[in-house]
Amino acid sequence: MTDTHAHLYDRSADELQSIVADAVNAGVDTIINTAVSIQTAKIVLDQCDRFPQNLRAAIGISPFDTNNLEDGWDSELTELLYGSPSAQSIPQKIAAIGEIGLDGTNPAYPAIDVQAPVFIRQLEIAVTSNLPAVIHSRGIEKRAAEICRDIGVKKAVFHCFTGDADALECIVDNGYYISISGIITYKNSHLRELIKSVPIDNLLIETDTPYLSPVPHRGKPNRPSFLTCTAAEIARLLDINEPELIAALKKNTAAIFPNIY
Ligand SMILES: [Zn+2]
Repeated sequence: MTDTHAHLYDRSADELQSIVADAVNAGVDTIINTAVSIQTAKIVLDQCDRFPQNLRAAIGISPFDTNNLEDGWDSELTELLYGSPSAQSIPQKIAAIGEIGLDGTNPAYPAIDVQAPVFIRQLEIAVTSNLPAVIHSRGIEKRAAEICRDIGVKKAVFHCFTGDADALECIVDNGYYISISGIITYKNSHLRELIKSVPIDNLLIETDTPYLSPVPHRGKPNRPSFLTCTAAEIARLLDINEPELIAALKKNTAAIFPNIY
């Protein structure tokens, strides 16, 4: 299985070693290690070099980190993607541009007017570099999906999806993916019902480590190995067997992240 979204940039070398080993033991052999800024992108890329079998990178500037960006941040991001100014192709360790997006619910985030241009510029980079976009969106998922469509984004995943049926429909209609986190294991989550409307060909799963640990680990820091709890619960809710779900997820992961296996 692939954990399509985890943040490992603040783990020490020893912690990273144990996190990756635990994940592999649990059957989670690939982890998309996701940055939120230029600074964390550099750490993520370095971590991927240390675990070339198991780690892939998503690099980008999250909506939370869009304040006070230095001029030229977009060229710096592009340079990090290619590895060097003269490189002609993107190295295999790069899986996506992300996480990027629009958050309309959290007052701690910069204003939408600040988030939007950074989101749009990074979608353009995703299109030119032919990479999928990993999108964080809360409350305005539909608008985010429409922006992706208007810019010509072919591949996008709405990570840690918590939107409603309307947003889901817009995302799926545009051929984009929904990624479900451990939130689905929480008793009161609306996702427990909504999951039945997600076409299986548009479904991915993730931990969003270190946040949102699934039951029975809720309250502890999350780890990619806990992805198995989320997979088991989704299989149960969809009334399909787990190997069948895992096979579908693997196919979807390979379809959106062409470099991953
Ligand atoms: Zn995240």
